[in-house]
Formats: sequence, C-alpha cells, structure tokens
Amino acid sequence: MPHLWWVGRVGWTAHAPNLAPVPELPEVETIRRQIEPEVVGRTIVAARILDERWTRPLDPEPVARALVGREVVSAGRRGKYLLLGLDDGSTLLMHLRMTGNLLLAEPLGAARRFGMDRLYPAPTEPAYLKAELELDDGRLLRFTDPRRFGHASLLGPDELEPYLGSRVGVEPLGGELTAELIGRIAEGRKAPLKSFLLDQRGIAGIGNIYADEALHRAELHPLSPAGSMRREHWEALREGIVEALGEGLRNGGASIDDYLDSRGERGVMQDEFLVHTREGEECPRCGERINRIVVAGRSTYFCPGCQVRLRRRRRRRKRR
Ligand SMILES: [Zn+2]
Repeated sequence: MPHLWWVGRVGWTAHAPNLAPVPELPEVETIRRQIEPEVVGRTIVAARILDERWTRPLDPEPVARALVGREVVSAGRRGKYLLLGLDDGSTLLMHLRMTGNLLLAEPLGAARRFGMDRLYPAPTEPAYLKAELELDDGRLLRFTDPRRFGHASLLGPDELEPYLGSRVGVEPLGGELTAELIGRIAEGRKAPLKSFLLDQRGIAGIGNIYADEALHRAELHPLSPAGSMRREHWEALREGIVEALGEGLRNGGASIDDYLDSRGERGVMQDEFLVHTREGEECPRCGERINRIVVAGRSTYFCPGCQVRLRRRRRRRKRR
C-alpha cells in the first residue's frame, strides 16, 4: 500500500504534501492584472497582519506600521512574486506558495452596490486570513492561506533587485526569452528538462503544471537532460513555454486545488490540460496513453508516443 499523507482540505493523498499545486505565472499574473487597476493610486489606511509567519523573519508590527499611509504606485510581478510598489520606493513582495490567495474585497455592506457583484463579497472575515490591507476607498486586500506557507517581505528601494536577483531568472513572456538564451541556460546541464523548468533561477514562473504542458507542446520528454537540447529544441521549448503559459492566462489560471483569483473565482485552465493530470487518457496529438512518472519528487505527465527523449551529448573536448 502506498504511503498516504494528510493534506488538510484535500484529504488523504498518495502525493507527498509538498506536491500540492502551487500558483504559477498564469495564476499570479491573473491576480496582478485584476488588482492593478483597483489598487494603484489607492492609499493604505490600515494594515493588519494576523500571522507572524507571514512576514518572518521580520516582526509583523513594524511592517504593518510602515505600510499605513503609503500610496500604491504599481502592481507588478516577477516570476511567481507579486510586487506592490509603494510611494516611498519600497515594495511589498508577496508569494502565494501553495495555498495562498489574494482577494480584493468590498467593504462591509457594499457588496450589493450596483456593479460590484463581480467582486468578492466579504460579509464576514474569511477563513485563514493572514493579512489585510484597507484601502482609502474602503476596500480590503486580503491574503488568505490555509497552509501558512505564503509569505511577504517589505523591501527598501535598494533591496528588491538583490532579493529577486538571487531567486528569479528570465521572464518567459515579454520577449527576453529567446531560443539562444534557453540554450545558454541549459548548456552543460545534466538535470532532466522537467527539473530544469522548475528551477526559478533559470526561467521564472514555471511550476509543475506548465512544465508538463510546455514539454508536451515542445514534443520533448521530461527526462531528457537539459544540456542535450539542440538549437531546434531550444526554439521548440521556447514556443512550448510561451504557448502553455499563454493558454493558462487566457483561462484565468488553473484551479486544481486552492487557487482562486482576486475575485474569489476559480480558473478553468485545468479543463484545457493536454497532459497534466491526464494519466491513462489519450494524447491529443498522437493518441498514445499519457504516462505519469515522478521527476524531482513531482508528478510528471507526458506522452511516450510523441515526446522525444534526447540522449546526453558527449562533451566536446575544448580546443586550445
Ligand atoms: Zn502523443
């Protein structure tokens, strides 16, 4: 009998608890696009941090005090990080980790106002509330998280780039990610392509879902060593990544487990998966049965019929 883990609302599962789906670039970007027009230009009039783990290692009290009175000047994203830029040059950086949600809530009693029903109505305090920022129009930006791995940091003007620099690599959407750059990042890497894509320091924002989807689109086997790709594979992988993430964005992200957008609504990308979670189903490209294997401790779905397993390339002897 396989080992089972208890993971809260999901119940018993054969997957290790650290395998819960994590919001990836499309989920975080969906939230960013939703909150940007609502929060930019607003001033934070009150801040409540209810869980000291949210700001660890910083104390929540000074962080809350520093947020009050600040105007939000930008809502950005790097990789899976959400970045609220503030008018003193500091940045509130947030990571949803596994089960965090960022909800924009109407003030008490306002949910029935005309045109506001699309927003998350907040008659009572939501479960698992970790932090709450009250804006000057009365609305509340709420960070909820049943599993408490979600995190925030308040970073000074000179702290943001060093913080991100050591954690986040190239953004896959926006043109910086070229086939040549993928080749350079992958050069000499023996790690399987699945692990290569999960490494945030290489290409940012890709997690378990979109790694599987990108590799299927690129027709590359997840166990192929990253350094075994040739030029045509770099381009195929670039296209696979861009298409998989774009599809996720168009569908408002994937809600396999806890993910909700800032309006408290589920995404529908899970209905569009080509291979992820589709073990035993037919590959939409070639009809072969989709397999599930574990790579780097993560469930990995692929088609053995059309995803090519590349062989390790012999290291060329350096000419002098
Ligand atoms: Zn196939």
